[in-house]
Amino acid sequence: KPVTIIITVIGVIAIVALVTVAVLQNRPLPQKYKYGIVLDAGSSHTALYIYEWPAEKDNNTGRVEQTHSCKVKGPGISSYASAPLKAGESLRACMQEAEQRVPGKRYHETPLYLGATAGMRLLNMENSSASEKVFQAVEEALQKFPFSYQGARILSGQEEGAFGWVTVNYLDDRLEQGLETTGALDLGGASTQISFVSDNYDGSESPSNSVTFRLYGNDYNLYTHSFLCYGKDQVLRMALAHQTQTGPESILDPCFHPGYNATKNYSILYDSPCVSDRKPQRAPVNFTHVGNGNFKQCQNVVKSVFNFTHCNYTHCSFNGIFQPLLQGPFGAFSAYYFVMNFLNLSDTSIPLETVKEKLARYCATPWNQIIQQHPDIKLKYLAEYCFSGTYILTLLTEGYNFTSDSYPNIKFIKKIKGSDAGWTLGYMLNLTNMIPAEAPDSPPLPHA
Ligand code: AMP
Repeated sequence: KPVTIIITVIGVIAIVALVTVAVLQNRPLPQKYKYGIVLDAGSSHTALYIYEWPAEKDNNTGRVEQTHSCKVKGPGISSYASAPLKAGESLRACMQEAEQRVPGKRYHETPLYLGATAGMRLLNMENSSASEKVFQAVEEALQKFPFSYQGARILSGQEEGAFGWVTVNYLDDRLEQGLETTGALDLGGASTQISFVSDNYDGSESPSNSVTFRLYGNDYNLYTHSFLCYGKDQVLRMALAHQTQTGPESILDPCFHPGYNATKNYSILYDSPCVSDRKPQRAPVNFTHVGNGNFKQCQNVVKSVFNFTHCNYTHCSFNGIFQPLLQGPFGAFSAYYFVMNFLNLSDTSIPLETVKEKLARYCATPWNQIIQQHPDIKLKYLAEYCFSGTYILTLLTEGYNFTSDSYPNIKFIKKIKGSDAGWTLGYMLNLTNMIPAEAPDSPPLPHA
C-alpha cells in the first residue's frame, strides 16, 4: 500500500541520516563490555578483582583491564577453620560492591572464580575436613550472588607461578608481540613463586618445574617453582622456631628493632605444618620476643631456613630444587613490593651493597623511633619490615642466585597499566580462553 511504502521510506531515510550524523561527527557507537570476577583467597587476606574488556574483541587483541578491586575485611579464609560460616560471610561486602560495579544486564554472563593459594594448601595438609568445610561455606556464600559462579578451588603452586607470569607478560603486551618475556617473582605470606623463561632450559631436567604454553603463535617453555612455607609469614615462624631451639623462654632476635619486646604464645607459633615438627617437647606457654636489630646476624638467622647441602641437578636454588640460569628482566610483586616500597628500597638501580647498608641502618633504629616515624602503619607490619626486607634480599641473592650484576634486572612492581600484578588475571584469561594459541589473522587488506 502507498501509505506503508511512504512510512518505510521515511524510516529508512531517518536511520541513514542518524548514522551519517554519527559518522560525520566521529562519534563511536556505544561500546559493549564484558566482565569477569576473580577472588584471590590468600593466606593473610582475600581480595576481589573485577576485569572488563570490549565484548567484540574478546577472542584476540582486546585488552582486559582491572576496573575495581576490593580487600575483604578480616583474615584469609584458611583462618576460619574453626568457624567456616564466617569465611563465607566475610566475602559478602566485597561481593555487594561487585554488584554495584557490574551492570545488572551483565550479571548472568559474568564468570566468578575463587582461587585459594598456600594458606589453604597448608590447612588442607593439616586438616582436610576443615578445609572442605571452609570451601563449602565459601561456595554457598558466592552462589547467592547473581553472577555465573564457576567454582572455588586450591591452585597448585605451579598454576600460581605460571598465571602470575602470564599476567605480567600479558599486561606488558609481550605475549601478543612475541617479545622477550619478563620473569615473575611473587611473595605471599605462606609461599613464594619464581617463574621465568630461560633459553638453556627445555623442561627435561626437572619436568615438574616445567609448564609449556602456546600463546599467540609462540611456544614458551616456562620454568616455575613454588616454595611452600617460604612466604614471609611462614619463614618468620621458621626463623623464630630456629631461635627457640636454644633458649625457650626468651629470644633475642636480630631481625627486630632494639627496644622491641613482646610476649608471644608458643602454641600459636607452632600451629603450622611448616614448623609443627620442631615444637619443643616441654615448651612454656609463652616466650618473650626481644629485638636487638642487627642486619648481619639477621641474615644468618634467615639463611638457616634454606638448605644448600644437596643438588642432584646441574643448578639448584635451594632445598635441592632445580633452577636453570636466571635470564632476562623480572617483575617482583605482592609482598616483595609492599616491603621494598615501605623501606624506600624499590629502586634497583641503587647498588645492592648500598641497599644492604640502608637496611642495616633501618634494622638498627630503635623501635620507639620507628613507631613515632610511622604512626599510621599497622604495628604488626611495622615490627616485621626489618625481618621481611632481610628475608627478601637473602631469598633473591642466596636462594635464587641474583648477584649485584643481575639485581638491577628486578623491578619491584604493584600494578601494570592499572591492573595488579598477581595470578588472578592470568587465571581468568586462561579459564575464559581469552589468549588464543595462534596469532589472530591479520586484518584483510582494504579494497583498492
Ligand atoms: P597472601 O595473603 O598469602 O597473599 O600474603 C600477602 C603477604 O603480604 C602477607 O605476608 C601479608 O602480611 C603481607 N602484606 C600485605 N600488605 C602488607 C603491607 N602493607 N606491608 C607489609 N606486608 C603486607
